[in-house]
Amino acid sequence: MERSDIPSLHINNGFKASGLKAVLFDMDGVLFDSMPRHAKAWVRVCRDHGLNISDAEPYYHEGRTGDDTIDIFTRRFLGRPATAEEKRQIYEEKCRYFNDYAEEAPQMPGAQELLTKVRDEGLTIVVVTGSGQDSLLQRLEHGYHGFFRRELVVCSHDTKRGKPAPDPYLMGLKKAGVAASEAVVIENAPLGVQAAVAAGIFTVAVNTGPLDERVLYDAGAGIVFPSMQACADAWPDFLSKLSAAH
Ligand code: CA
Repeated sequence: MERSDIPSLHINNGFKASGLKAVLFDMDGVLFDSMPRHAKAWVRVCRDHGLNISDAEPYYHEGRTGDDTIDIFTRRFLGRPATAEEKRQIYEEKCRYFNDYAEEAPQMPGAQELLTKVRDEGLTIVVVTGSGQDSLLQRLEHGYHGFFRRELVVCSHDTKRGKPAPDPYLMGLKKAGVAASEAVVIENAPLGVQAAVAAGIFTVAVNTGPLDERVLYDAGAGIVFPSMQACADAWPDFLSKLSAAH
């Protein structure tokens, strides 16, 4: 990608570059091309339980924890909050369906290349996901051997509030030992972008799903790439443009 092809940067309020030290990656829809399978599993389990969501609905909740998502659906379709038992059971069944659909979720094209560039620059790599699946670390290790450390992974069990609250990304900064101004986030979902921006972090969105890129800019993304491959291709120029913007 030519430098001129990089979209202009929208610097988040309060963002000041003081030397990039860490890149915080979302997982589903960024590292793994897993969202279509997640969406299918959500639709199936919800309909099993009388929660008649549309096929597109899961994409609007991407990034939310399972508990929060289930609660929104029971309030809408059953007129009451979800019980703890429902949350546990529905999420467990959803994970089982997901695993049926994808024993090995495919890598997102371009993700390995971007991770390699980030690692070669000596930057700390962190994963911040709303997922709480037990298989998460095995998925990361199997898909991207050697890039991730357990202590630098934030999952749904690490914070009380999930995305779109800033807590998961604030925890990611804490685990990496860096300030918001020393990090960049890579996200694909509107709620994930909101969470990262609320944590004060410059957010790169990759539009790997079915939504219009405008939704990601509206959520506060500083820049939107059409794919992880486009992001990986433009990464060196993006970094120089980012530092030049300050
Ligand atoms: Ca995601």
